[in-house]
Amino acid sequence: MLITAPIGWLVFYLITKQVNPFSKPDDLSKRPRWFLGIALGLDITFTYSMSLVGDANSDAVSRFVVRTAFFIFYLIPILIFYLFYRHKSKKAVNSVEVRSIHSNKKPKQVINKDAIHTKIKESPSIEQFMMLVPKKVYHAFDGKVKLFDEKGLSFNCGCGQSHLTTESFAIIDSGISNHVVYICPRYNGIFNLVVAGGTFSIKKLNTLTVFYARNEEQLQDIMVALELRKKTRVIVGGFLILFAMMKR
Ligand SMILES: [Zn+2]
Repeated sequence: MLITAPIGWLVFYLITKQVNPFSKPDDLSKRPRWFLGIALGLDITFTYSMSLVGDANSDAVSRFVVRTAFFIFYLIPILIFYLFYRHKSKKAVNSVEVRSIHSNKKPKQVINKDAIHTKIKESPSIEQFMMLVPKKVYHAFDGKVKLFDEKGLSFNCGCGQSHLTTESFAIIDSGISNHVVYICPRYNGIFNLVVAGGTFSIKKLNTLTVFYARNEEQLQDIMVALELRKKTRVIVGGFLILFAMMKR
């Protein structure tokens, strides 16, 4: 045992290139070899040091042959288990890799979503949002603000992206003060109050505040609030309805 234990350890070391047999590798793919190293090391340590029946009567060579037979006897299940373990760990490693590929792709979305979730929590109330919306606003016809579209302007949306006004739907337009509420083209629950900036002419759009509708109810509430704020639309809309009724 005193001699065979170091030999067993040496075999373990040669197989695993690892000094301490008691530390299980974190790397899944290294575990089958670690197992093989330990099993062979123990196999050598014990089979070549165990006491044999009739030990005293046999010579060194025959004792070695008997011990080798024992060594091989234990070696077979060790190898079978090693091959099985290796097969299993390869499968596990593959699935871990697949998962990490997926998780490498996902973070961008997840971070984005998380960012939106935090923003949703910080979202102003409808009242707070409406306080920043000018008192006098008009219906943005066809959801467009011609002046902004012609200049190719874009705004920083509450979803974290920048959108061209041509791609976004405008609900209200304040006219001369250049305040517009745009709905995010990606998430229809995000309402951006933007205002035109620039010294002499409109150069860019600044996002003043963003309202995040948490549910269908809030979505309707903000729409109603914006609708009620529209000045001319009520009159024009009233006339349109009257006109439509008269035509019938
Ligand atoms: Zn957006």
